[in-house]
Amino acid sequence: MRSLPRKIDFLQMEEKWEGLWEARGTYRYDWDDETRPRFSVDTPPPYPSGDFHMGNVLNWTYFDMVARYKRMRGHNVHFPQGWDCHGLPTEVAVEKAHGIRRSDVPPDRFRRLCEEWIEQYIAVMKRAVIRLGCSVDWSLEYRTMEPEYMRKIQLSFLILRDRDLIYKGEHPINWCPRCETAIADAEVERERRVGRLYTVAFGIDGGELLIATTRPEYIPACVAVGVHPGDGRHRHLIGGEATVPLTGRRVPIIADDAVDLGFGTGVLMICTYGDKADVLAVARYGLPVVKLVDGKGEMTEEAGRYRGMGVEEAREAILADLAGAGLLRGEASLEQEVGICWRCDTPIEIVSLEQWFMRTQALTEEVVKAAEEITWYPGWMRYRLIDWARSLDWDWVLSRQRVFATPIPAWYCRRCGALRMAEPEELPVDPKVTAPRGACAGCGSAEFDPETDVLDTWFDSSLTCAIHAGWPDRGDWRRLFPSSLHSSGHDIIRTWAYYLMVRHLALFGETAYSAVLINGMVLGSDGRKMSKSLGNFVASPEVFEKHGADAARQWVAAGGGTGFDIPFRWSDVEYGWRFMRKLWNACRLASIQL
Ligand SMILES: [Zn+2]
Ligand SMILES: [Zn+2]
Repeated sequence: MRSLPRKIDFLQMEEKWEGLWEARGTYRYDWDDETRPRFSVDTPPPYPSGDFHMGNVLNWTYFDMVARYKRMRGHNVHFPQGWDCHGLPTEVAVEKAHGIRRSDVPPDRFRRLCEEWIEQYIAVMKRAVIRLGCSVDWSLEYRTMEPEYMRKIQLSFLILRDRDLIYKGEHPINWCPRCETAIADAEVERERRVGRLYTVAFGIDGGELLIATTRPEYIPACVAVGVHPGDGRHRHLIGGEATVPLTGRRVPIIADDAVDLGFGTGVLMICTYGDKADVLAVARYGLPVVKLVDGKGEMTEEAGRYRGMGVEEAREAILADLAGAGLLRGEASLEQEVGICWRCDTPIEIVSLEQWFMRTQALTEEVVKAAEEITWYPGWMRYRLIDWARSLDWDWVLSRQRVFATPIPAWYCRRCGALRMAEPEELPVDPKVTAPRGACAGCGSAEFDPETDVLDTWFDSSLTCAIHAGWPDRGDWRRLFPSSLHSSGHDIIRTWAYYLMVRHLALFGETAYSAVLINGMVLGSDGRKMSKSLGNFVASPEVFEKHGADAARQWVAAGGGTGFDIPFRWSDVEYGWRFMRKLWNACRLASIQL
């Protein structure tokens, strides 16, 4: 045997093999193979941010190790890679780059600009996945913005609607006033912030009632006052009425055992909607809904003279008026938990708007059952999914008021208002661009207005287990379904793992995946979360250029148990690099003897 060279350039060698694997089709899945057992990896399609960070390195290395292991054990491994393209960050970036607002250009033109924009980031991320040495089958690559992909998403929408698992209705939803769109519970981050607690005097017969609130701007939407039935201080007021300051509205004083006796004055202002507790109270006691805040985060006509003001502005004006009327009796700072938009950190509002929903709450126990039956690595991570599913109070709000997303395939008859869903043969369709075939079944009119709402990007990315397998076009798609393995970080169990599960259960009555592999987060060398602002951030290209992909992968392999956060340390990567050199030298020594 020819002896191995003494000097070796690992980086050059890695790049050589990356090229050869692709040229030879080494990792192609064989669709026709009937002999080997199949193994399918549900690779999560990332949002192409253009940044393949060390957390991605950890994530991809995990499931690539599984894919390689299974291949070596004789499996026919299906290992695709997709890109989850749609979303608000791209819209914002395109607006900035072109100096336009999305409403300045026709929607299809804006969409094309977004597509061009995202392609450059896909190229960067694809290069990184290849450079990491992932054994992806690139013949299976896809983009969620492709018409073919959107057709499948829209088809699943039609099927779920036929089964009454998707409906349109008016319900309270989380609303980001900055992004001007509905957002799902999974997109609301909880943050502790210091706010103000104001004590306000309400009128009652023969006196006044002091109520503490953090949201005085919602006073015009007060629909009831709640006191605890066991509260000796206020019990006698139950059944009476209170007069809301500034508006003069009379509202009932009701018994509500959800009132926290120790908070503020022990009396609760119930308004529509200051928070989720209000939503529950309104439903429980059949209270009216005053629509105070609109989709732009502005006060509606219900706010009287505060109409047209933003929420903050209205708060200041209302506080000034309360003080002027002598009704503001106290003010204190208060640390409280605030729901904020995950994309822009703006505090969310709860508004009641007509939206499209998926009936996910009805499927909670099925999700729990599936989570209990499948295999988790590590096992205790299953409770993250179970607890999340059980914590959800609302159905999944699917509609978004954006542009760069999969359109909801529906129109409304201009004459009678009837809803006209697309037919499967009409898909994919953007109802803003294409009119439906034929006339309205109700009134015969041929004129329609499009549904302008689009779908949550999680609706795109939560059907990958079936789509990877070939649904709906391949007759044999169930050979690859459920996915053998789904893999993601523990931070997105509540989104990725949950949405995949609930969606596939709804469509196919079966678990989406048979096993889940969970990785932790990558921490900086100082043990804190890696972030650019903390100065402990390391970019993956820097690691690859210095010590190569194998050394980085060895850091992952040796870095800690599944599900646990691991710190990034250059010394670990250097150790991997030295180890590889030793291995090379040992092989070289052996090769001389052969
Ligand atoms: Zn936002
Ligand atoms: Zn009609």
